[in-house]
Amino acid sequence: MLGPPGAGKGTQAERFARGKGIPKISTGDILREAVQAGTEVGRRAKAIMDSGELVHDEVMIGIVKERLDRPDAGGGFILDGFPRTVAQAVALDAIMAERDPLIVIDISVPEAELVRRLGTRLICEVCGQNAAVATDLTDRCLRCGGKLKQRTDDNDAIVRERLRVYHRATEPLVDYYRMRPTFRSVNGAQTPDEVAADLAAAIEAARNGTAKLGRGATR
Ligand code: AMP
Repeated sequence: MLGPPGAGKGTQAERFARGKGIPKISTGDILREAVQAGTEVGRRAKAIMDSGELVHDEVMIGIVKERLDRPDAGGGFILDGFPRTVAQAVALDAIMAERDPLIVIDISVPEAELVRRLGTRLICEVCGQNAAVATDLTDRCLRCGGKLKQRTDDNDAIVRERLRVYHRATEPLVDYYRMRPTFRSVNGAQTPDEVAADLAAAIEAARNGTAKLGRGATR
């Protein structure tokens, strides 16, 4: 799943993975768990994440390789937040050489909307889940009852840095993947239900290798 920060990748990946009974593998979540657990990787990643920059490719490639080797990823998985650089994409192609082809979905959202979403986003400090809009009215997570807080990297200055990093390092991946028959783009500036419907249709179309496209989805 490709797209800028705030495009809804995490929300949509979670929803799709739950519906299909496959793991959602979010490198941001894996890093935040490592920070929380105080591991060596977590300690080194924290300062980089708080500055809005990217953790080194070798570290991220190692994390993903290890995660994809686990048995629960054998029947398919959805990747959220990886790859984020061309070097990571090249490494992922090598990892996937013996597996089914990757389906690549780019979720696009206008920049002003991304800034607005990231500035108001709340996550649960216990389970790390994004708070649904309705729960923003309370300060508790609907899933586990944990307290809601702003992500440390969602403040205005860091959001702008993360968007700069996205344009510099990650957006070139759209060109890297665009010509593949399994690439699709989905309009992320819709309601979560509409994006989910387009995403499911785009994935199905990519799987069938047909020109059949979902509403708002384009090649
Ligand atoms: P996310 O939750 O996907 O927005 O990721 C939060 C932060 O974790 C990013 O701003 C990066 O600092 C780091 N991160 C997550 N995934 C990657 C990746 N694939 N490559 C490098 N850094 C990453």
